[in-house]
This record gives sequence, structure tokens and C-alpha cells, in this order.
Amino acid sequence: MHNRVMAFMVAHVIGDIITGDIAEPEVIVSSGPSVGGLLDSLTGSIGISARSKPIAAPVAAPTASVSSPVGSAQSESLKGGVRPFDKDLLRNFIVGAMPFGTPQDLNYTNVTSIRTTGFSGDPLPTDQKQPAWKPYLYKGRQRILFSSLETINAALYDRDDVPDFLSVSGQVTCRAELEGLPDVSLPLTGLKTAHVEVSSFHHCVQASDPTDNKQTLIFQPPLGNFVLMHYQAPCNIAPPVKGFYQLSMVSENEGAFLFKLTLMEGYKSPFIMEFCMITMPFPRRRVASYEGNPSLGTVSMTEHSIEWRIVSSGRGLSGRSIEATFPGTVKFLPRTTQRTNSSFRSVSSTAYTEDSDSEQDNAKNGASLDDYIMEKINKDLQAVDLEEPLSWQAYNYAKVSFKITGGTLSGLTIDPKSVNIYPSVKAPAEYTMQRSATVPGVGLVHAPFSLLPAHLPESIWRQACELAPIFNELVDRVSRDEKFLQDSLSKTRQVDDFTSRLLEIHKKMMEINKDENIRLGLYRSDYMLDLETNSLLQIELNTISTSFPGLGSLVSDLHRTLINQYGHLLSLEPKRVPGNAASSKFAEALARAWAEFNVDSAVVMMIVQPEERNMYDQYWLTKYLRESYGITTIRKTLSQVEAEGQVLPDGTLLVDGKKVAVVYYRAGYTPNDYPSETEWSARLLIEQSCAVKCPSISYHLVGTKKIQQELAKPDVLERFLENKEEIAKLRKCFAGLWSLDNEEIVKTAIEKPELFVLKPQREGGGNNIYGLDLRETLTRLQKEGGDALAAYILMQRIFPKASLAYLVRGGICHEGLVISELGVYGAYLRNKDKVVINEQSGYLMRTKVSSSDEGGVAAGFAVLDSLYLTDK
Ligand code: ADP
Ligand code: MG
Repeated sequence: MHNRVMAFMVAHVIGDIITGDIAEPEVIVSSGPSVGGLLDSLTGSIGISARSKPIAAPVAAPTASVSSPVGSAQSESLKGGVRPFDKDLLRNFIVGAMPFGTPQDLNYTNVTSIRTTGFSGDPLPTDQKQPAWKPYLYKGRQRILFSSLETINAALYDRDDVPDFLSVSGQVTCRAELEGLPDVSLPLTGLKTAHVEVSSFHHCVQASDPTDNKQTLIFQPPLGNFVLMHYQAPCNIAPPVKGFYQLSMVSENEGAFLFKLTLMEGYKSPFIMEFCMITMPFPRRRVASYEGNPSLGTVSMTEHSIEWRIVSSGRGLSGRSIEATFPGTVKFLPRTTQRTNSSFRSVSSTAYTEDSDSEQDNAKNGASLDDYIMEKINKDLQAVDLEEPLSWQAYNYAKVSFKITGGTLSGLTIDPKSVNIYPSVKAPAEYTMQRSATVPGVGLVHAPFSLLPAHLPESIWRQACELAPIFNELVDRVSRDEKFLQDSLSKTRQVDDFTSRLLEIHKKMMEINKDENIRLGLYRSDYMLDLETNSLLQIELNTISTSFPGLGSLVSDLHRTLINQYGHLLSLEPKRVPGNAASSKFAEALARAWAEFNVDSAVVMMIVQPEERNMYDQYWLTKYLRESYGITTIRKTLSQVEAEGQVLPDGTLLVDGKKVAVVYYRAGYTPNDYPSETEWSARLLIEQSCAVKCPSISYHLVGTKKIQQELAKPDVLERFLENKEEIAKLRKCFAGLWSLDNEEIVKTAIEKPELFVLKPQREGGGNNIYGLDLRETLTRLQKEGGDALAAYILMQRIFPKASLAYLVRGGICHEGLVISELGVYGAYLRNKDKVVINEQSGYLMRTKVSSSDEGGVAAGFAVLDSLYLTDK
């Protein structure tokens, strides 16, 4: 029988190693102010060292709030170490010591060995999500390597009636050998042209929304190799191996074959084919011998195949196409001797894990890549496939495997020059290796901080402090005007789903006439000092999840201590660092709200993110609540509240069997915190209850950027406040704010984008749009027409003064040109007509490297800072 010609190609690998070999990444410093979130987007690196470091928090004592505390008798025997732990007891004990995470490893032997020998360098259990921090830090020559690996799946039939099939799946692997904990920003270009569809990013990646042809990835790379992204693409050029293959059985035990192939047609330099091999598999027959010589390359045989190496490692093929032919015959052993194809299968059982973070990565060197290809081929082409229609005549295909470097088939490229690293680090002379855990939740690095406090004129400081109680009162007044909130946000809700969901809850509360008697707000109003006018201008007022009261207070302490000790060398006086009681003040406000609620057995419930990384900031509030007020805090995610919570007929919120007096949100401010309906129904459940919410839905809405902009309109403040002097004080700190139905200002912003910031209705940093991106976005939205513009507000861009500072991050100190943003905390508590608290409650300075970014996306590099008051 004369067989039809077919060739079946599988598992072709085309690799492209692009290195951004950045010997000494330089500090990017320029005169323009920086953009992006000040630390809000950096909470990933917040934590403390378990060993004592300057701003480290001690490991929590077992008495800290725990949902299932250990009895004191048990603790006694534990301390003595006499009694072996039973598993439940051990869990309680660990949860007591680490109230912020779920213990991952409860094996007694492991725990004792960790206690005696510390944490080993063993890799993390692969089935667990990696922590965003590094378990230890890299030291040595710095470089970052990207490599993209594309696999073609192709079936070429050489038939008119069956179309060929070709597709590319690719992955970009990264290995960052960088000291400290830098942010890497990587613009991907050509996505649209190449029709690349990203199927997943590594969990450390924050990807901007793809615009036209560009998408920027920002990430803090973990150690070792990791897969940055997976993608799919159509194949934009013809396959590098094409041709003709024919096999006919001339007798029961003998076949004749012919190959006529063209290699690398249309592949110009820099594409190099480093390796190409054709395999003729005979899974059901055993090969006895073969005859014939190819025009190129070498031939060998195995029990079940003939292998033709056309191009082998070392002799690459580039810049030209070649023809290769191979006529020959193959003899098989008689069928009776044939066994099952066990040897074929046994090769394929070598599993290869694509997502490996291990050191033996495929892209490391050529030899292992070849092995990988072989494994991959064998894995992808198991004998069982032969029963499938694609290979209906069992022997009638050959498989081609190859490796080509120099480019990608999809066209996706990474330009090493476009890779930015913040902060850029020079190899420091002194370096302390931070070795800590490899167990998630235990390996910690310190929060980034500034070595010395930032200077600020005392008069400006006083002005900011005076504003706090006025803003506190304003939020309460505005929150009472339900119609104002609904009307002001009515357009935004059309185009912004998140705001719309919040308004929906708000509306439900209006419908049932929900009255909040006890109202608690914990705020932070952020400001920058505008250089040109020397005026304090507000950036925004945060009414939900205001972060860093805990760690901010510690940095003030640290600075005062340092200046006390070394200030004389620098002519600095410790008394000029204002006291900062943010954490105890916030705890006091929570405690007094709890007292107003007046149920002794009730708890404070902190709503946290499932993978909360800023827990050590929150820890301080829990600690004060417990130690100064005897109040227990429980920590719950929104989905836990949904599962464990209920509202009793009298309005009492019960979660996990406990009555909740105060719900304190440290999550719930971003759409990411509501991945499903579950979280929304938890939010609604809480809102319907009579527990004190910090914040209530209306307090939350008052903090939106749209309301900020509405309040800045003429005569609006007057609707809510009577005192003219106070109104004047507020208005003085308002920067220019506009809604986008103002065509004049949109036009100006398109002309001079550098003078504006475009803000969507989001919190948490990293969402604002600047510079050329701002121009592009406005132009596009304008063209699209409709209400899309209503999702944004425009703000005058503030330019603060830049100065030199020392920033410490990941144990490394960098000098840089920086700008600072002052946040003043405020606490407000009210029970019906009685104002219980209305005060300024400490501060937070955040300082970031001042660097401009033409493209509009900058990885903000900010650290915790405090204040040094100057006369002028
Ligand atoms: P978010 O709710 O995401 O924190 P912000 O309004 O605070 O949004 O903006 C995030 C960051 O962007 C700020 O911390 C600040 O560094 C910068 N920023 C915001 N508005 C301005 C502005 N008008 N001028 C200069 N920088 C700004
Ligand atoms: Mg902010």
C-alpha cells in the first residue's frame, strides 16, 4: 500500500534569551517630581524581622489577641518544654505567637529543628503560594535575565483537504539576581501586532491595563527562576521546517521512506537554528536495521525509532535556507517478538514541571535545553496518542524538534534597555545577609524607612494639624446628606462598577432608614507642600483603611532615638521631631467606640485581606486594644464574615459566635477585595448590623475622589459648614480639581499634561495617570464619547521641593533625591449628638525618590518617614 504523505510536528521549541545584563543599575534621578503611589503600592515589602532590628516589632506575645487563646496552665508547661505538643495545642500556640497568618507547618519535628538550627535554605513547598517578600536576600553581581521560550504545536499534512495547524504558546521566564528588594518595571511592546494573548502573570506582577501596543509590568522579583507570564499567539511566519515525508511498507517487515525538507525558509539572521532532529517513531514494531544516507546530518536508531539529526548543537544554521533529503529503508523484527511499547512509555514518564522555581531551569544552558526538548517531545507524544485520528495510520508521521535562537515566532520582544530597576543599587560595601524563614508567613524583611526625618516648616505643620478636626467634622456632615452623595456620584456610577456597588449598598441603607448612632472615622489627610506657592495642598482624604498609624509611630520614635544619640554630629535636636501617637490614638478611638457600644463581651473585628501583608502595622492597634483596654480583636476576611457571620433580629452582628462591637476595615477599599459576590454580601451584612463601622458606607463614599472634587466647587463647603474661618482654612488647601465635563480644562490638560494628574475612582496607589499617558487617555476617552470621562477627575499637579535623603530598604541604604508627602491622621467619634472625639491623631511622612517618567508609569519607591520641624 502506498501511503499518503504526512508529517506531524510537535513540540518545537524556539528559544530566545534576552539578557538585560545590568552591571550597575544607576539611580534614576531627575528634577521632575515622581509619580505613583507613595508606599501604598509597596505594602508587599512591609514586615519585621524576627530578630531585633531598629524598627522591628517584637514577635507578638502569646497573650495578643487570638481567636482561641491558650490557657495559662498550658502555657506554663509549654514554656518549660516538658510536655510534647499535641497538634491542636501547637496550633493554638503558634497562632498566639503569630496572630497574623495561618501556620503552614505544624510538624513537631520541623518546628523543633527550626528552633535549634534556624531556617534551612530548603525550597518552599511548591504547592504553596510564595510570599511576596524574599526569604533571604541575594548578594553578588547584579543582573536580571529574561528568557522567552515558545513552543509551537503544529500539524502539517501536506494535503489540500486538511488544513495545517500551527499555534504558539510561550512563556517569559525571569531570573533576577538583584540585591535588596527593588521594583522592576518592564514595558512589553508589540502585543497587539503580534496578537499575543497573555493567559497568566506571576502573582508578583502588577500589570497596567494594556493600551494600544503596550503593557507595563511592575514586580518585585522573587529569588530564582520564575515564570513571569504565559501567553498564546498565532504563528506569524511559516514553520521553520517544511516538507515531504513518505513511508510505504514494501513487505510485512520492511518499509521504504523518503524525506524532502526545507529548513529555515524565510528565517533571516539573527535567527539561528541550533538544533534540528527528525524522529520516525515505530511504537508498535521493533527496529532491526535501516539503510540509507541523508544529504545532511547523521542517523541513529533506537528500539522503536530512527533518529535523524539534521542540525546538531555546535553547528548552527543561520541566514539561509537549506534543503535536506533522506531516502532509505527500515527493517523490523517479526511481529511475534514484539512486546508492549514499555520502553517508549518509560521515557515519557519523566515529568517536567514548567512552573519550576528550581535552579535546574531549562533556559540555563544549551545542553539541558536539549534534554528538555527531548523530554517534552516524549511527554507530549505518548504512545496513546497514536490511537487518535490525527495519526490514524500509526506510522505515518515523523516528528520534528528544533531549537532556534535569535527571536520569537510570535514577535513578542523585550528590550533590555527598557527595563528599569528602582531603586538602582550599587553593590554596598557593608551588607548583612538577612536569613530568615522559608516558611510563608515567617520570612520577613523590615519596612522601608528613611534614616533621618524630612524637614518641614513648623508653621505648615501647625496648619495641617489645625485642618484635621475640620475635615473630621466635614466628613460627618457630608455623610449625613444622602442625596448629595447619590447625586454627586450619579454619573460615576454609570461607568464605574465598584462605585456603583458601593452606592447600591448606600441606597439600601437609605431605603431602610438606617441610622448610625455611633459613628467612627479614622482618617488620614495627605498633603504636599507646593514649591512655587509655598502652600500646603491636599492630595486626598482617606476615609477607609488608612494605613501606617502603627509603623509610622515607630519611625518617629526611631528618628528621635537616633538624633538623641547622634544628632550633635549633625546639628539636629530630638525635640524637633514631633511626638507621634498615631497607633495609640487610633486604638483609643476604637476602644471608646467599643465603650459607647457598651457590650462587655463584644470584640473589635478587623477586616483584612486574605493574604494580608501589612499586618505588622495593624498589630499595634490590636496590642493597645488588648493591653490598654482589655479588648479582644478578631481578624477576619470578608469571605470569612460571609461564612461565619449573621445579624440577629436585634441587629447584633455575630461572627464566629462572637458579638462584634466595632468593625474596623483594613480591606474593602479596592475592587480586588471583592473577587466574588461573597465579599459584597459580607459588606452588606455588616452594614445592616448595628455594629459600629469604621467606616460606614457613607463615610467611605465621602472619601471618594469624585466627592473631593465636588467639595472643591464654589459654595459647596458652605452647604455643610457654618464657620467662615474654617471654610477658608479648608479652601486654602484645595488644589485645582475638575470634573471632566469641563471641556475647557480637558483641552488644557491635553495640551499641557505635565500640569495635571488624572485620577480614577480608586484607592490604594498606582492608579493615577500622568504625562503622555494622561494625554493619550483623555484623547481616547474624548473620542469614544459617552460617559467614560465621568470615571475620572482631573487634579492640578503639585510639585514639591526635592532634597537629598538616605533611604533604607531591604537592609540597604541608598542616597537619593526625594520628595515627601505629609499625612495627618484624624479620629472622630460621635454618639448621636455627642461628639466624643474630634482630634488630630498623629502623622505619617512618606518619602519617595523623585524621578520623572516620560512614559507616565513609574514604580513609586517610597519609605516611611517622620518630621523634623524647621523655623522656616
Ligand atoms: P490613592 O488613593 O491611590 O492613594 P492619591 O490621590 O493619594 O491616590 O494618589 C497617589 C499618589 O500620587 C500620591 O501619594 C502622590 O504621591 C501622587 N499624587 C496624587 N495626586 C497628586 C498631585 N495632584 N500632584 C502630585 N502628585 C500627586
Ligand atoms: Mg493616597
